[in-house]
Amino acid sequence: MNQFRFSRRPDIGDKIRVSFEFFPPKSDEMEARLWDTVTRLEPLKPKFVSVTYGAGGSTRERTARTVKRILNETALTPAAHMTCVNAARHEVDEVIQEFAEMGVTRFVALRGDPAEGVGAAYRPHPDGYANGAELVGALKGVGDFDISVSAYPEKHPESPDFATDIDMLKRKVDNGATRAITQFFFDNDLYERYVERARRAGIYIPIVPGILPVHNFTQVANFSSRAGALVPAWLAERFDGLQKDPQTHALVASAVAAEQVLDLVERGVGDFHFYTMNRADLVFAICHMIGIRSHEAEAAGSAAA
Ligand code: FAD
Repeated sequence: MNQFRFSRRPDIGDKIRVSFEFFPPKSDEMEARLWDTVTRLEPLKPKFVSVTYGAGGSTRERTARTVKRILNETALTPAAHMTCVNAARHEVDEVIQEFAEMGVTRFVALRGDPAEGVGAAYRPHPDGYANGAELVGALKGVGDFDISVSAYPEKHPESPDFATDIDMLKRKVDNGATRAITQFFFDNDLYERYVERARRAGIYIPIVPGILPVHNFTQVANFSSRAGALVPAWLAERFDGLQKDPQTHALVASAVAAEQVLDLVERGVGDFHFYTMNRADLVFAICHMIGIRSHEAEAAGSAAA
């Protein structure tokens, strides 16, 4: 063990920025859980927190309500996800306007999955924005927003090859994207290779790794191939036999996520986006390990000393 590793420096937290992703709740119970999570993570002072948007506008109102509550009741900066699948341009423009009037200055601009489900052939709305890049252009036409877009370290399942995938990312950057957030991945080499490919293609915006804590391995494994993310055999092996042992599953999930994040820190990564799944504990613990502390925790620590 080497005490001089980058991730063990006492000032590591000053060099790292985090953002958290939430999804809009469907029920009162889920709403209560989300707000417990927001309350727990808020003191970590993330750069922003983002709220997802159902493809085809299925969560339009819930996303807007959640973003509004974050704006009104917290000191956090929300980023509204937007998709353009199955919507005419004027409908998408209306949503942009609604968020802008609310005071939203950050967006995560996405095409969205086909209405028929992930894996079906994508057909743009005849009068709609065709992809994420066109949506970025529409947002930039309304205001000088901070716009994040998607990136796929293992390439998007619809991309025939990496060149096409990187070309789409380049088009998003050319239209005004400020940052890319990656699909979740478990093999850091794939992320590093993707970033190298992007840099070689002249893409210089931050490409922030999206970290997915594995709260439920079976669900993640089912979803991952459709999302364009590989579940490596070694990861499956770690969760093998834990379906009925939630406590051990949670401990293994913490260890896996911490290992991934600390390794990325060693590789020089300074920005992380966490797919929280509206749960705080695991993300809070990982942030703690990389020196991201809440003021409450610091105050308690110095009182104890
Ligand atoms: P795009 O980047 O527009 O396209 C995806 C790929 O398809 C491109 O890389 C490109 O290779 C290929 N492609 C597209 N158009 C063409 C073309 N004309 N010619 C050749 N190739 C083309 N989904 C939601 O519904 N709501 C969310 O809130 C949400 N948030 C997300 C957040 C992040 C960080 C990520 C990574 C994904 C998120 N998604 C969300 C999922 C996303 O909507 C899906 O992955 C969707 O299938 C692609 O959307 P995109 O914006 O990445 O598409």
